[in-house]
Amino acid sequence: MADKKTSSGKGRKKTPVNAEPKAVKETVTAAEVSVEEALPEPRRSVAFIGSECYPFVKTGGLGDVMYALPRALTKQNCDVKVILPRYKCIPEKYQEKMVYRGSFMMDLCADTRAFYVGIMEMEMDGVVYDFIDNEDFFSWGNPYTDLVKDIPKFCFFGKAALAALNYLDWTPDIIHCHDWQAGLVPVYLHTLFSDTPVGRAKSMITIHNLRFQGIYNIPTIQYWSGLPGYVFDHTLLKQGYEDANMFKGGLAFANCITTVSGTYAQEIQTPFYGENLDAHLRFHSGKLHGIVNGIDIDIWNSETDKLLAANYNVKDVLKKKKENKRALQERLGLEQDDGKMVIGLISRLTNQKGLDLVNAIFPELIDGNTQVVILGTGDAQYEDAFRYYESVYKGTVCSYIAYDEGLAHQIYAGADALLVPSLFEPCGLTQLIAMRYGTVPIVRETGGLKDTVEPYNKYADSGNGFTFDRYDAGLLLDAVIRAKTVYFTERERWDEIVQRDMEKDVSWAKSARQYRELYLQLRP
Ligand code: ADP
Repeated sequence: MADKKTSSGKGRKKTPVNAEPKAVKETVTAAEVSVEEALPEPRRSVAFIGSECYPFVKTGGLGDVMYALPRALTKQNCDVKVILPRYKCIPEKYQEKMVYRGSFMMDLCADTRAFYVGIMEMEMDGVVYDFIDNEDFFSWGNPYTDLVKDIPKFCFFGKAALAALNYLDWTPDIIHCHDWQAGLVPVYLHTLFSDTPVGRAKSMITIHNLRFQGIYNIPTIQYWSGLPGYVFDHTLLKQGYEDANMFKGGLAFANCITTVSGTYAQEIQTPFYGENLDAHLRFHSGKLHGIVNGIDIDIWNSETDKLLAANYNVKDVLKKKKENKRALQERLGLEQDDGKMVIGLISRLTNQKGLDLVNAIFPELIDGNTQVVILGTGDAQYEDAFRYYESVYKGTVCSYIAYDEGLAHQIYAGADALLVPSLFEPCGLTQLIAMRYGTVPIVRETGGLKDTVEPYNKYADSGNGFTFDRYDAGLLLDAVIRAKTVYFTERERWDEIVQRDMEKDVSWAKSARQYRELYLQLRP
């Protein structure tokens, strides 16, 4: 990668990581925003560092959490700054709102090559967003490309985020890192930044998905990170004989590790779910906690959602869902009949999501009274399989192979049930959104799916959805048949599940309080 500067960075002087602050001071800080009365004391300051955040850039649940959790934390008396890459793909309407806060040159690589770091800032609903600007690293259309580009990109991002905090003269109590892309941040904090102001902060790292870890050969990561040789040890970054693992290093150095559900926190300490880091996580289990995700209940609000054909609440859901169903059927070219049971699936199309099970039973899902709607993009094998089923079952199946936020809202509102049969699922948001929209989840009992969907119990008249345990297509089919049986033969019971789902608390409030508790424990 060329050592090229962005136009605004040309001719700037190199700034060491512990440079005196030179930031422009007039922009808003999170501390200045108003917060609700009777907030818990003491106030905590937190810097979120991660690779995506709705509405700027989102490829999955991480983007939702990076948006919703900081907002929920502001209601828990936390002062939150979110640090993100300034990708070129961030929509123009947000780029225009960003204010230039300053720039400097930063050493990055082992050979001390220096790179431009620009800081662009905007404030939204009490949260301050600082975007790290560098055209060499962030000018691609997509936040993630391939590891050849992503490894240097996220070495740069991790270091630049900390250098930016020093530059802005903002030392938070906690630096909260997310997934492997921010994995080097705790490592930098304990090494190259330990004697700088930001080195006083405690670090937390959250595992949103352990499958992706940022693994590459040691010479490459050592070169791009500029980290000292001793961190490439088996207990820290080294993996196998010749690789370095950025996530592993972050987990080792962080003061606290969290993941997005209690069940996933247990699962990842076993070989099946541990993605080769189970022993590492067992070693660090004393600082590992599971806190289940919530959803932003202002965005996901069926009463106000402008994307729906008909808004509704728990009182009129049974009537209004039919209107949404008909609108969905019309939009997707399905037979318009509100008597049909519509089963939705909204997902990245990868093997994590249990799509092999869905493929194995697909013909058995179709029975003349059921329609299936799939929204997703991903691996060609699944895209092709679902396109094939659409062509075979025209008018009954729609495979919408795309990423479409609006259609996702309409499926959550118009479908009767949502399928989430994942092989593994750290938390999963689609089942939470589905419940909020009165759509009954059919899920495998793994990770956050197990923690958030209580199985329907007809004797106790309780539960939120239909579940199965082992990763087995026959068990998935059994769960779907159980759901269909209640839907078609005991409709009052089904309607009660729908209403229970809509009343379930899936907001961030409780989880944000748990994060705050951990922040307090880290900074006595
Ligand atoms: P993951 O993070 O593993 O992709 P989650 O269930 O945690 O899965 O989060 C998925 C999020 O992405 C949800 O908000 C879901 O609505 C959204 N989503 C997934 N696929 C699509 C798609 N094709 N179009 C629109 N939204 C999607």
